[in-house]
Amino acid sequence: MSDDYRIRLQLRCRGTVQGVGFRPAIHRIATNLGLGGWVINDPQGATMEIEGPAGVINDFLDCLPAELPPLARLEKIEQESLEPLGEEGFEVRSSTLGRREGALVPPDAVLCDDCRQEMEDPEDRRFHYPFTTCTNCGPRFSLVRSLPYDRERTSMGCFPLCSECNREYTDPSDRRFHAEPVACPQCGPRLWLADEKGEPLDGGDPLVAARDELLAGRIVAVKGLGGFQLACRADSSEAVERLRRRKKRFGKPFAVMVRDLETAKVTVDLDAAAENLLKSPRAPIILAPRLDGSSVAPEVAPGLDDLGVMLPTTPLHVELLRDPLMPPLVMTSGNLSEEPLRRGNREALEGLAGIADSFLLHDRDVVRRLDDSVVRTSPRGPALVRRARGWVPEPLPLPVSAPGVIVATGGHLQVTACVAQDGQAFLSQHVGDLDSVPAREFLGEVIDGLLDFLQVEPAMIVADAHPDYPSSWLARDLGVRFGAEVVVVQHHLAHTAAVLAEHGFFPGDSERCLGIALDGTGWGPDATAWGGEWLSLGGDLEWDRLAYLEPLPLVGGEAAVREPWRVAVAALERQGEGELIASTPMASQIEEARLRAMIQLAADPSWPMASGAGRVFEAAGALLGVGEVNRWEGEAAARLEALAARASDGLDPWPGFEIEAREEKLLIPSSKLLVEVAKRAADGEDATSVAAGFHATFCRLSADLTERVSEGERGVVALGGGCVVNRILSKSLAEYLEELGFEVLLPRNVPPGDGGLSYGQAVLAAVAAARGVEPRRVDVGTSNVKRCT
Ligand SMILES: [Zn+2]
Ligand SMILES: [Zn+2]
Ligand SMILES: [Zn+2]
Repeated sequence: MSDDYRIRLQLRCRGTVQGVGFRPAIHRIATNLGLGGWVINDPQGATMEIEGPAGVINDFLDCLPAELPPLARLEKIEQESLEPLGEEGFEVRSSTLGRREGALVPPDAVLCDDCRQEMEDPEDRRFHYPFTTCTNCGPRFSLVRSLPYDRERTSMGCFPLCSECNREYTDPSDRRFHAEPVACPQCGPRLWLADEKGEPLDGGDPLVAARDELLAGRIVAVKGLGGFQLACRADSSEAVERLRRRKKRFGKPFAVMVRDLETAKVTVDLDAAAENLLKSPRAPIILAPRLDGSSVAPEVAPGLDDLGVMLPTTPLHVELLRDPLMPPLVMTSGNLSEEPLRRGNREALEGLAGIADSFLLHDRDVVRRLDDSVVRTSPRGPALVRRARGWVPEPLPLPVSAPGVIVATGGHLQVTACVAQDGQAFLSQHVGDLDSVPAREFLGEVIDGLLDFLQVEPAMIVADAHPDYPSSWLARDLGVRFGAEVVVVQHHLAHTAAVLAEHGFFPGDSERCLGIALDGTGWGPDATAWGGEWLSLGGDLEWDRLAYLEPLPLVGGEAAVREPWRVAVAALERQGEGELIASTPMASQIEEARLRAMIQLAADPSWPMASGAGRVFEAAGALLGVGEVNRWEGEAAARLEALAARASDGLDPWPGFEIEAREEKLLIPSSKLLVEVAKRAADGEDATSVAAGFHATFCRLSADLTERVSEGERGVVALGGGCVVNRILSKSLAEYLEELGFEVLLPRNVPPGDGGLSYGQAVLAAVAAARGVEPRRVDVGTSNVKRCT
């Protein structure tokens, strides 16, 4: 049959095809080829019908993948032949409303080069306009109220287009054709600067005034893309300290925003992969080793070698850093301590009064709160630490198709939620720690938002096995509200499942694989705090705890998590080496009377025990004098890593350490490792070299332990848990394991710590449901059951 035989096809496109300029791209390609037909957004994605000579339609299909706009992601095309109608000309039709069944909205994307050029052009009507956007860039998820993604269902719905914008919006050949947030100074959102009482400060351009405030060293609350941020000069110790005092955030590092890539490159050590990410539409905060000579004050990230750096992400931020004299700016979440981001103008004025000196406000609503994402560089490739702007709501893979909708509620710290449906898991944006009531409400808001967004109701709710986490209470409430089954999943099993599933891997029904979870704290079935676990997980979800880190006493319970020096004292005391403490750097930081009291308390055998790797690393940090108290989660461990990173020797494992056996289980002798840290420090060995030796020995022992428990098998090992963020630990352990012949999977697109927990929970629940496994074998039965294995 000849190629000019006329045919008509219907193509149903699935994936991220709404809000990314997909329809205009189709229109352009079809029109250039002289094809007839139409394209429309629908609840599943986009559908088109094209008609023309068969050969030309083949050309169309061939060039489609390469010619799609940058933010589009085509997952699947379903194709059907129709009778030709003789249609000439191609049109873009408006959306059909209906139940959402797969259409995705893309994540928010950083300002594109074309828009940026317009902002630089004095002749352009968007010269310096801080809400410039087009189909290739700008806010998406943060301003969508519901689907399908059309302007009236976003927070731009209340800004009627002016005639110029309307022309761009309706012209299929324009870059702004159906760019839903399109706006200009005539018709779009407006900016103003207000004082701390919310009174507008008049007099000229609010951006100029805001820049003057910042240059003068004052703190400005900025209404950003996904909520408020607090900004101040990062080169002023005084301004940074003032922000810390007012925000009640002590010690925890801030991220900085720099004007351009050149400044980023002289501020931190960026490898090629990190640089590409920084330049990409995702544009996260990159955590990388800080370079000497940058203007950033040490108070921004005290005691750490890494610094978080980002580029201006929105046109508003571009304007804020426009002045060539503008130094790097601290850009941190606009909240009090660990509460969620403030979102509305009034909410910000109330909540941030007393922190910010002035407020840069505008009249476009933030529909969904969204923090900046954080990625850490590593010799094994950049890895996500916090997943939010630029990634959410992009789905993650599930190893099976979930038979019903699953909601997973995460743990207690750095919480995210996850909604799984069919073969996809939608991991929510970072919610944070659940210590405050507003944070717990935010978790509920995020789950409701995802369910509403996907237009689904859950059949199964998953919680952490810890009986007293607020996320577990929420799971119970959701179970009642939706009449859904509630199951609980062991914490470190969820970490393991998250790493496996992210890599598209999960053991088949009769297979098993290994997981190592090096973590802070997670509830173990024996009611102790687990956190250094060698697990074997089967495709049938049968699992075993093969080995673990020697549990250490938490003297004073929870207080020992905040004060690692207590763990260090107890570990040494139990080895009969308590007298060493007086000669360690730690001794100069703790009052002698408190030390003596702790030595006595440590003798009590009834303290709760914890096998968390985080506890051991923090205790080592405490002994070396870099973190007797954690002002933020994991501080002492992070500072220990910073010490090790500076070491020029001590890079080899210490001799004389071996795997031990206790009650028929193998374990790593944590307390002996800590005694060695104390001895070497007392002998005057350089702290950087002790820190490096500690890392090397821990990794060597961990690899040896893995070899022992694997009994000659060499398969996949998933490495998860919060400690894997430590780049020395993850690199060195992975290398030792690979030398032994294991295939190592490390977290990449899912945070290794509790930010990825809900994803792992959803994965396990989906596998259980799809393979007909009893929830009891996942771990425990329904939520009110306290314990069993
Ligand atoms: Zn653009
Ligand atoms: Zn306009
Ligand atoms: Zn964890």
